[in-house]
Amino acid sequence: MAGKGRKGTDPFCIKGKIEQQTIFESRHFYALYDIRPVVPGHCLLVPKRHVLDMMELTVAETKDFHRIAGKVIPVLLKEYSREERSYDLTAQIGPYSGRTVKHLHFHVLPRGKRDEYQKRNVHIYLDIESNRTNLLLNIKEEVRKLRKALGYRQAQRAGKRRAR
Ligand SMILES: [Zn+2]
Repeated sequence: MAGKGRKGTDPFCIKGKIEQQTIFESRHFYALYDIRPVVPGHCLLVPKRHVLDMMELTVAETKDFHRIAGKVIPVLLKEYSREERSYDLTAQIGPYSGRTVKHLHFHVLPRGKRDEYQKRNVHIYLDIESNRTNLLLNIKEEVRKLRKALGYRQAQRAGKRRAR
């Protein structure tokens, strides 16, 4: 795991915990498939460094966020939103925001005109907060598909880790 500074006790800071969910990584961020997806393709963009607030991100990390978002979001839209080209990008920051994990993360939620939240749009946030999922997705298969679409390979990850 990369990232300087103190580590938290949250799942994003525990070594090896997010390995199976990782679909891509950049210098400062991981892209993860959410283990309780509320829509197909529900992913997270997570800084490698343990921070709680987006205002703690450095300029380099902020640029890197833009870069990984620009890489991952178009692939998610192509795979899950198709012609609708729609998504929610959301973060819960601070103790009264509905935050569930105390480590900054951005949810990317591909949306479509036939998704189950169209009639009750606000419920997508309630489901994120409650860690509820009604989807029976094979997450391993989803991760494999997205790694392939993003050109993210086991060997590259191992190599990158050694190089750090
Ligand atoms: Zn953390």
